[in-house]
Amino acid sequence: MHVNTLILGAGAAGMMCAAHAGPSTLVIDHAKAPGEKIRISGGGRCNFTNMHTDPARFLGQNPHFHKSALSRYTQWDFLDLVDRHKIAWHEKTLGQLFCDDKATQIIEMLRAELTKAGAELWLKTALADLAHDGTHYKATLDRDGTRYSITACNLVLATGGKSIPKMGATGLAYDIAKRFGHAMTDTRPALVPLTFTDQRFSPLSGVATPVVAHANGTAFEEALLFTHRGLSGPAVLQISSYWAEGDEITVDLLPNRDLPNDLKTARKTHGKRNVTTAMTEVLPERLVSFLADDLALKGNVGDLSDKRIDEITSRLKHWTLTPSGSEGYRTAEVTLGGISTDQIDSKTMMSRHLPGLYMIGEAVDVTGWLGGYNFQWAWSSGVAAGQAIVAQT
Ligand SMILES: Cc1cc2nc3c(=O)[nH]c(=O)nc-3n(C[C@H](O)[C@H](O)[C@H](O)COP(=O)(O)OP(=O)(O)OC[C@H]3O[C@@H](n4cnc5c(N)ncnc54)[C@H](O)[C@@H]3O)c2cc1C
Repeated sequence: MHVNTLILGAGAAGMMCAAHAGPSTLVIDHAKAPGEKIRISGGGRCNFTNMHTDPARFLGQNPHFHKSALSRYTQWDFLDLVDRHKIAWHEKTLGQLFCDDKATQIIEMLRAELTKAGAELWLKTALADLAHDGTHYKATLDRDGTRYSITACNLVLATGGKSIPKMGATGLAYDIAKRFGHAMTDTRPALVPLTFTDQRFSPLSGVATPVVAHANGTAFEEALLFTHRGLSGPAVLQISSYWAEGDEITVDLLPNRDLPNDLKTARKTHGKRNVTTAMTEVLPERLVSFLADDLALKGNVGDLSDKRIDEITSRLKHWTLTPSGSEGYRTAEVTLGGISTDQIDSKTMMSRHLPGLYMIGEAVDVTGWLGGYNFQWAWSSGVAAGQAIVAQT
């Protein structure tokens, strides 16, 4: 069987590419259903893009690489598509757009688009063998106990990263890219909770508080959530992408709060109040109890000197911690790093040295912030490759 384009992976990027790559496109996936990560994303409502999509909100060794694709298929283009399919959506916070109803609507939309474009989708299909004969890609596929030999002019690697292996994540795109001479950057779990081996925060499990979390010069102001094993919540997931083992993180537990002013006022008006009680006006009660010994929070507010107030404030604004690790690929939303962008053309997503080989989505060394950015990259890079294939055919 011969196809113009064989796409490996029917996730966000692969399906979007199939919808734009023209007829004679076959997209295969080893899973029973396409777009499984879309289905579970955003708590089942899929945070499908972000209104504030901007190249600065993506990480990768080349900070310019993703600009071209993101500017040619934007968040507004994807929103148009969502509107055309009459999928109701809302902005939750910070420009994050979610389906009102179910994430599966996005999967149905992509399936409809790829079918309309004339592409075929084979599920429960494994790649048994792959070679390039100088002109064509030759793939051996196993589907329902039958072997198929496929030749293709174009091969698109869209099998994503390593996060959530239980959902079928494999390193297939990395292995094939390496085999065809592409370099890899270091990969590690990102958008992932951070852990502490001593489980010191287990008494605080379930407590959430607004913070500014800092790691290696980058900061995010969002909620922090304590867990049995460590720290989570959007602020921590965001900085996890900027954190590496051994690094410190600093947490400002008092964003937008003027604690010195609050305590100095309380000193006048409620001088007999316990310091810990006064602190619960500002921080969750369980967190105040947890910090009380370390910060020597005792006595009455009326007895606090200005110097002591400044000391307490400074400790709470610069709470420095060294996580021992992260929850790893088991729960990470994305993989940081991947196929190096050095040898990929940023306009077409095609290999610079092997014509017809395209790499898109999370498999590539482009990682977005939390908040719909990673799907936007999947859509934009998928469209870039699809359009380039049509232009070349
Ligand atoms: C729990 C969770 C929630 C998330 N929520 C959001 C969110 O709300 N917003 C957002 O922007 N991003 C979110 N993300 C990140 C987002 O899902 C990914 O960045 C995006 O799916 C990447 O798209 P992709 O097509 O490159 O890879 P994927 O969507 O992972 O697709 C890869 C496909 O390749 C298939 N595959 C893998 N290996 C093989 C193989 N060997 N053979 C055949 N097929 C294979 C897989 O089955 C899969 O269908 C979330 C991720 C997780 C894990």
